[in-house]
Amino acid sequence: MEIQDRLAREQQASEFLGDLEDAGVHGVALTFVDNSGITRVKTVPVAKLPAAAAWGVGMSPVFDAFRLDDMILSGTHAGSPVGDLRLHPDVGRLTVLAGQPGWAWAPVDRFDQEGAAHPQCSRLLARRLVDALADVGLTAQLAFEVEWAVSVGDGDDFIAACQGPAYGMTRISELSDYCVDLLSALAAQGVSVDQLHPEYASGQLEISVAAQNPVDAADTFVLVRETVRAVSLRHGLRASFSPKVLADGVGNGAHVHLSIWSDDTNLMTGGDGEFGLSTTAASFCAGILNRLAALLAIGAPSVASYLRLIPSHWAGAFACWGLENRETALRLITGPLGNRDRAANLEVKCVDAAANPYLLVAGLLAAGLAGLAEQAILPAPVNVDPATLSAGERTAAGIEPLPSSLEKAVAAFEKEPAIRAAFGVELATTIAELRRYEIELFGGSSPEEITALTRWKH
Ligand code: GLU
Ligand code: MG
Repeated sequence: MEIQDRLAREQQASEFLGDLEDAGVHGVALTFVDNSGITRVKTVPVAKLPAAAAWGVGMSPVFDAFRLDDMILSGTHAGSPVGDLRLHPDVGRLTVLAGQPGWAWAPVDRFDQEGAAHPQCSRLLARRLVDALADVGLTAQLAFEVEWAVSVGDGDDFIAACQGPAYGMTRISELSDYCVDLLSALAAQGVSVDQLHPEYASGQLEISVAAQNPVDAADTFVLVRETVRAVSLRHGLRASFSPKVLADGVGNGAHVHLSIWSDDTNLMTGGDGEFGLSTTAASFCAGILNRLAALLAIGAPSVASYLRLIPSHWAGAFACWGLENRETALRLITGPLGNRDRAANLEVKCVDAAANPYLLVAGLLAAGLAGLAEQAILPAPVNVDPATLSAGERTAAGIEPLPSSLEKAVAAFEKEPAIRAAFGVELATTIAELRRYEIELFGGSSPEEITALTRWKH
C-alpha cells in the first residue's frame, strides 16, 4: 500500500464521519475471520476511523494460529508472539449495525507495517482469486445461506427457543418479534434478504440473501451472522451456528450458491451442456467437484463438521452432482423457466459455518479456475439419494463418499496442488497444522463432548 493509497483511505473514511455521528454511532467494530472460522475484532471510537483506515490498527499475527478453544498453535509459519500487523478497515463496507445501536462495522484487510499484503490475510486472498477469474474474462456471483439454531437464555446447554415443527409456521409465530427485528435490522443494513424460514432441526432457522461478488458475499455472511447473534442476545436468546448443535440432530450448513458470468451472461444456463450448462461453467463446476475432498479442510474445517456431514441429512455427503438433488454435494439449480439467466447456480452443500468464508470463497474459485485450465469434464449427474445405492452401484457410477473425518480432509488438502498454490505455502501449511491441532483437541471425545465444546464458538 502506497502513501497516496493511505491518504485516499483516510479521506474516504472521514467523509463518513457526519453520517456515523447522525446515526448515533460511537464505536466501529473492525473484524477479520481467523483460520478456525472465528470472527475476531478490534474496535475504535468513531473519530479514529480515518486514522485506522490509513495506518491500520495493530494486531498480532498470532491470530493466524488460534484454535477454536483459543489455544495457540506453535506453527511453522504462525503462532509467534513477535511481529505486528495492521488491520485496515474497508470503509466501502462500513455499515451501521441496526442490531447493536451505537455501533458500526467494517471488515478489514491485513497488511504489514510496510504496507505489504499479509500472506495469511484471507480477505486479500479472496480478492486475488476474484482478480484471477477476471484475468480469464469471468466474474462470479456468490451467496452464503446462514443456518442457525436459537436457544433460550444464556446457558451452555441448547434449549430450543421454539417448539413448532420443522418448517412450521408455528415457529414464526413463537418467534414473531424476533424475526421481525432480524428482518428490519438486515434491511436497515442494506442486506438484500431473499428468505427467512424455519429449518428442519429443533429451534433452527435460515436466512438466504442475494448473490454478490465473492468478497462482498463473504463480508455479508459475517455481517448477517453477527446481526443474528446480536438480535438474538437482545431477545434473551442465543444463536448457535455450529455445524452440529446437538449430537443427534440435523446440523447447520452454510451452503454456497455460485454462478459464473461473462459480462452480463450467466454461464450456468443457456449452454449446450447438461441442463443448459455452458462448457465453461461445466468445467468450472468439475474443477470444484474433483477437489471437494481437499476443499473440506477449508469448508468443513472442524471436527464437529463431520458429525454434520452424513448421508440423508441434506448435507451433501457424496462427491457428485445432480439437478435439484439435495443429497449430492453439488446441487445444480436452474431456477424457473423465464428467470434462468438470473437464477441458475450451483449450490455447494457440503460446507458449514465453521469455515472462514473468505478462505472458502478463495478455495472454490481456485478449484474452479483449475477446472477451467484443465478443461475438466463433469461426470454424469446423479438423480437419486446416493445413500440408497449399494456400494457397488456407487462405485460403478463413480460416486465417492466425501471424507468422513477432518483427518482425511486434511490429507486430501495436502495432496491438492492447485488450491495450495493459490493459498501460498505459509497459509496452506498453517491451515493443515491447525486442523491437526483441533483433531488433537478432540482426540477420543464423544459426539456429545464435541458438540458441547463447539456449540457457541462460531
Ligand atoms: N441443515 C442442512 C445442512 O446441514 C441443510 C438443509 C437444507 O438443505 O437447507 O446442511
Ligand atoms: Mg437450509
